[in-house]
Amino acid sequence: MSILAILEQRGGLKPCAYETLSAAATIAKASGMPLRALYIGAGLGEDAQSLAGFGAATVYAYEDPELTHFTPDAYVPIVVGLARELDAKVILGSATSVGKALCASVAGRLGVELAQDCTAVAWDSALAATKPLYAGKVVAEMRLDATPAMATLRPNVVRVERNETPPPSVVQRGKPEVTLRTIIRDVVSAAAGTVELTEAKIVVSGGRGLGDPKHWPVLQSLCDTLGAALGASRAAVDAGWIAHPHQVGQTGKVVSPDVYIACGISGAIQHQAGMRTARLIVAINKDPDAPIFKICDYGIVGDLFEIVPALNEEFRRVLGK
Ligand SMILES: Cc1cc2nc3c(=O)[nH]c(=O)nc-3n(C[C@H](O)[C@H](O)[C@H](O)COP(=O)(O)OP(=O)(O)OC[C@H]3O[C@@H](n4cnc5c(N)ncnc54)[C@H](O)[C@@H]3O)c2cc1C
Repeated sequence: MSILAILEQRGGLKPCAYETLSAAATIAKASGMPLRALYIGAGLGEDAQSLAGFGAATVYAYEDPELTHFTPDAYVPIVVGLARELDAKVILGSATSVGKALCASVAGRLGVELAQDCTAVAWDSALAATKPLYAGKVVAEMRLDATPAMATLRPNVVRVERNETPPPSVVQRGKPEVTLRTIIRDVVSAAAGTVELTEAKIVVSGGRGLGDPKHWPVLQSLCDTLGAALGASRAAVDAGWIAHPHQVGQTGKVVSPDVYIACGISGAIQHQAGMRTARLIVAINKDPDAPIFKICDYGIVGDLFEIVPALNEEFRRVLGK
């Protein structure tokens, strides 16, 4: 019996890999089952050392250049095979586009339950998962009794906690004997150097209050100062001011950053569905009755074209940029 954490990588291990491992460590401790980690990629290398402090005794590393990028033909049988080999009772992954696709296929192959995009997991004689539903209007508390129980965790919702345990021993495995119908040779980002929205620690978003797409540099400049990702409301996307991958909300991306700064966004329920689990929400809007002020931690009533540059200048001064 074991708890299995799937570690996601893109080149090196992604921050969400440590979050998944941290959540799995909590489950392992509460259930008394040993924690095992799974890496699939081109080479774990020195990253294995960074897996100290979670109590995982072993990381199974399936390494091959053809495993660099997610390919269901190989990734799915690897997870299914290892889950069976280790008699995994709980399998945790990340609720990224790769993690959700991978875990859905694995759950289908294993014929088990999967709770996607959870905001918390715990052990209560079975896997307990918390998952927002209906655009965040209700929160479902679930118990997954069938095993292995599977869940994916929304990036940024788990606080990574470490103890004094040593790094896991690495069990090397190669690519399974499968025919890869698709091999992804390279992934080219739409905009080089920008931060991925769903995994960003800070998101600065703009809405219709921006007035014109020529004003995005006002927000982009703040993003650059803070190392933030640029988000947008649907109104801004529908107006053709910015591409859909930037949209936050019910029909866009769901983000859970440490800080979400909404600029010229009214805060419609559909927008809230994508950002209300942020740890700290800052709203800048010239309408004091805008709904966004009901859910924000800090609200600034005023013109974003005065406030954002002033904030940016102050952040630059404080950060020495
Ligand atoms: C099925 C469905 C799905 C949807 N999915 C999404 C979704 O995924 N994401 C999403 O965002 N929306 C979504 N919507 C749309 C949503 O209902 C709102 O229409 C949208 O979020 C409004 O965008 P906004 O806040 O930018 O625009 P508005 O509601 O027009 O708000 C603009 C705000 O800017 C403020 N403002 C104007 N000028 C300034 C200034 N100079 N300085 C400061 N403040 C200023 C105004 O006071 C106003 O509050 C969905 C709707 C439906 C029906």
